[in-house]
Amino acid sequence: MISAPTAAADPAPDLFGAEQRALDAARRACHSPGGHLPALGELAAHYERLLRESRRLVQRSDRAERHLTQLNARLQEMASQLEYRASHDPLTGALNRGAVIEQARRCLAQHDIVLIVLDIDFFKQVNDTYGHPAGDTVIQTVVRCLKGLADGQAVIGRVGGEEFSVVWPGLTPVQGLALGERLRQAIEATAWPAPIELAVTASVGVSWNARGGTFEQAYSRADQALYRAKRQGRNCVRMAD
Ligand code: GH3
Ligand code: MG
Ligand code: MG
Repeated sequence: MISAPTAAADPAPDLFGAEQRALDAARRACHSPGGHLPALGELAAHYERLLRESRRLVQRSDRAERHLTQLNARLQEMASQLEYRASHDPLTGALNRGAVIEQARRCLAQHDIVLIVLDIDFFKQVNDTYGHPAGDTVIQTVVRCLKGLADGQAVIGRVGGEEFSVVWPGLTPVQGLALGERLRQAIEATAWPAPIELAVTASVGVSWNARGGTFEQAYSRADQALYRAKRQGRNCVRMAD
């Protein structure tokens, strides 16, 4: 089977095609038998120089435009990197404290929310026993565990060294308490990488907050519940009144 010839890619049209044709015609007129026209020859020479100069300027402006497009793309990339760094914790990739507060406020303006504050128990012991890098690994693993349970529906942040927040919109108080318990159990059941052999657990404070409340109140109530959990033996969940 003979396939149809494929059309060659069209070359870019010459921006000065008409001018070039007029110049060529003038040159031909100058060189035609009996066509000795010095004034036309001189005009054609000037015109040719202008054409050359115009082509050079157009090329230069095309190059500048391409460069600007590249710079613009780089700028946008850097802006989104900066935005990410300003709102995320570098160790875990979770939202940082400022970003959690901002998102929780936004959420609270539109929904009832459950706010959970979770703090690793006796974390200093992990650092003291296995070293700071092992402590970092525990923090990263806790965040992975929280993210796994939240499944994209909740805001998860690292609000302090070994303290984390989960903001979940639309849950009832009973559901909030159950979620806190699921998070606690998940951390207790986590297999920690070597050399960590200590049992790592977390205490959890939960507050349920009606739409329109303030973040400060929601956080303070969850934090008080967390303190009760710590005082009452750790590795447990307490709900704010
Ligand atoms: P509690 O059960 O009362 O919460 O006891 P704790 O030991 O967990 O709490 P404490 O406040 O005494 O110690 C927290 C430790 O967390 C102290 C600090 O060095 C450590 N820490 C904070 N940020 C980091 C971090 O980014 N990496 C590591 N490895 N440790 C951190
Ligand atoms: Mg702690
Ligand atoms: Mg703490």
